[in-house]
Amino acid sequence: MRIAIIGGGASGIYTALLLKQDHPEYEIHIFEKEKKLGRKLCATGNGRCNLLNVDLKGEKYNHPKFMEEAIKAYPFEYLVSVIRSFGVPVRREGDNVYPESYNAVAYTDFLVASLRRFGVTIHLDCLVTDYVQKGSQYRILNLSCMDFGFFDKVVFTIGGASTPNLGSDGETFPLLKKHGYDIVPLRPGLCPIQVKNPEDVKPLSGLRRKVSVKAIAGTHVLFKERGEVLFKGNGLSGIVIFNLESVLMRLGVLALSSIHLDFFPDQAESVLLDDLSAFHKLNPTNFLDGYFPKSLVSFFYKINHIQQNNLSTTQLKILARSMKDLVFVPASPYPFVNSQVSLGGVSLGDVVSGLESKREKGVFFAGEVLDIDGLCGGYNLSWALMSSIAVSEKIGK
Ligand SMILES: Cc1cc2nc3c(=O)[nH]c(=O)nc-3n(C[C@H](O)[C@H](O)[C@H](O)COP(=O)(O)OP(=O)(O)OC[C@H]3O[C@@H](n4cnc5c(N)ncnc54)[C@H](O)[C@@H]3O)c2cc1C
Repeated sequence: MRIAIIGGGASGIYTALLLKQDHPEYEIHIFEKEKKLGRKLCATGNGRCNLLNVDLKGEKYNHPKFMEEAIKAYPFEYLVSVIRSFGVPVRREGDNVYPESYNAVAYTDFLVASLRRFGVTIHLDCLVTDYVQKGSQYRILNLSCMDFGFFDKVVFTIGGASTPNLGSDGETFPLLKKHGYDIVPLRPGLCPIQVKNPEDVKPLSGLRRKVSVKAIAGTHVLFKERGEVLFKGNGLSGIVIFNLESVLMRLGVLALSSIHLDFFPDQAESVLLDDLSAFHKLNPTNFLDGYFPKSLVSFFYKINHIQQNNLSTTQLKILARSMKDLVFVPASPYPFVNSQVSLGGVSLGDVVSGLESKREKGVFFAGEVLDIDGLCGGYNLSWALMSSIAVSEKIGK
């Protein structure tokens, strides 16, 4: 059997390895438009590659029901055994799982070396521009006009449009659309958020603070999580903000929501006020310096229009309020170049079991190309693996 895999990221690599493990006789070709396989994989997990999460749950994804089924079929322990079958031991850090090397480049290089050892044919610098069906087979058209003959199966693992500098830039989706696929519009997911009134946050640029974060639209709390917020020049970043951004973008309500930061999630506002009052009594001019770095002290005075001297009880109350509920209004997500995953992709309605195309028999999809996105914490690489297993099982049946 001849199989063409379009896109040599995590999903393309996993699919090829899984197919070769069970069927060394298959002739597998990976077509990758970049000069190297797995460029994005090399950048994952802050260079450490958070490849799985112990706490796999449907609710971590945009299609929880669909993912519950996938997780039932391929539970966490099974996914670990698959990674180990590639020859890679894993380590846990909390719920996050990494390769034992704790190094995304080493992990990628190891997998690519395994592909070569298995005899997978790798075509680099090879942008696939179209495919043509003849009978039950497919011919792959590419920018360099090379003829690679006919393939029995074609697997699209082209990713989404996030971090285009690392390969996937969304430019192949019009081709899938031309072939009749329903493409849920691509939007940046897991990325920082620009806020209205960026001049407010600018002085805080670079500051990190562990807080509780809430997103509210109307009267509905749509998101609540604790984590570290990183203040940027014109917005908010950090893992907790990435997750919040994805949740609000999935619902299409980012610009209709407000983001609320609680700097003292373990203290009731009344307790905080008592504390502020006591410390204010000790140091009427600079009592907040014991709480925060200078930039944040000035920030709280400035946004509340309070002079830094002998505060009244009302002013202390205002400060306590804003430390418990600092509100930002989102303007927009940062662009794709800053996003870790793409929301949208080939609609799940276009695939049947084994992620095979509903209409084009022998055409498959795995990974981010499909309309599945997960939150931070290894959920997207988990999906890359689960979907690659599903495809390889169906092809290898
Ligand atoms: C900075 C960063 C950190 C991340 N960290 C994590 C993490 O720690 N854990 C986690 O779970 N997820 C993480 N993610 C998300 C995760 O990396 C992706 O969801 C995952 O890599 C998607 O794999 P994929 O193979 O489906 O797509 P991709 O990795 O995007 O691979 C698609 C490949 O297809 C190629 N391609 C596209 N079109 C064509 C074409 N027409 N012809 C030929 N080749 C083509 C592209 O060049 C690319 O190499 C991170 C993402 C980023 C950007």
